[in-house]
Amino acid sequence: MRITMNKLTMLSCITLLVSSFGSVANDKPFAIAIHGGAGTINPSSFTPEQEQAYRAKLKEAVDTGYVVLEKGGSSLEAVTQAINVLEDSPYFNAGKGAVYTHNEQHEMDASIMDGKTMNAGAVSGVKHVKNPIDLARLVMDKSVHVMLYGEGAEEFALTQGVPLVANETFNTQHRYESLQRAKAKMEQAKLDNKDYIASHNALDVEFKVGTVGAVALDKSGNISAGTSTGGMTNKRYGRIGDAPVIGAGTYAENGVCAVSATGHGEYFIRYHVAGDICAKVKYQGKSIIQSADEVINQRLITAGGTGGVIAIDHRGNIATPFNTEGMYRATRKKGEQAQVMIWRDK
Ligand code: ASP
Repeated sequence: MRITMNKLTMLSCITLLVSSFGSVANDKPFAIAIHGGAGTINPSSFTPEQEQAYRAKLKEAVDTGYVVLEKGGSSLEAVTQAINVLEDSPYFNAGKGAVYTHNEQHEMDASIMDGKTMNAGAVSGVKHVKNPIDLARLVMDKSVHVMLYGEGAEEFALTQGVPLVANETFNTQHRYESLQRAKAKMEQAKLDNKDYIASHNALDVEFKVGTVGAVALDKSGNISAGTSTGGMTNKRYGRIGDAPVIGAGTYAENGVCAVSATGHGEYFIRYHVAGDICAKVKYQGKSIIQSADEVINQRLITAGGTGGVIAIDHRGNIATPFNTEGMYRATRKKGEQAQVMIWRDK
């Protein structure tokens, strides 16, 4: 009888231990944020149906990443899958829907960073890869390098079994029209005796921004960030923006923060935006909200750089500041519904 009691006590202790261990694991926060680019996003330029379609795609992307996290998947996988949804949509400037270069082609950049290992992978100027974020991840996981560009990156893609697709795959009518508008504006600037720099500066912000990205915290406490873009409309000379530059457009470090940026890439490179936000968190002990706000709404504004970021910390706090009219974005934290926003307040 005594032995039976002891057995029973032991059994209930084990049950208690197992269930409390389980509930500790269940208590772990997880969260994800995504963006579909910042810029001159005027409410009046959308029909209600168009706005609804954008919101639905943002929700689909954030929910896709959320499900990965909810099932115990890694933040890297959540970031990759969320970005895939946006790359496959013609609404956003990445993958299908990437903007046109001056030569009427598409050249895409992407990067991903794993906050747990501080490993990173990036590709730039790829023309034939359906999902550049997947290739960036392969560069991180299956090569000894961080960034590969152009034909070399595509040669590497083939070694990894990634099929190459025609550049026309990424064509969309609205981006083509946007290129023609950008060219007309630059032509006019030339007629007004402006040189290349001045005529480029005369281009509206709408031609310089638009990108997709994601940041996530998983149940194991690992954070990651990824960014994918077609870059700037009418770009030429092999221009590369901030999206594939670790520390500029993408950064992640466990225990600190993960950031994905969108905006006028030249500023984001020079001001080391993603890294600077995380440095404030790490060395100044500032919150992710304050750090991201200081860089986007103070430092960048003073410099004249337009854009925004999504950022997450190791507790799942999320910041989404931008200094443009709008930024397509969505967030979802453990146990909550997705929040989809385009403008400041909705
Ligand atoms: N940052 C990207 C680039 O400069 C564009 C964007 O995010 O809007 O290529």
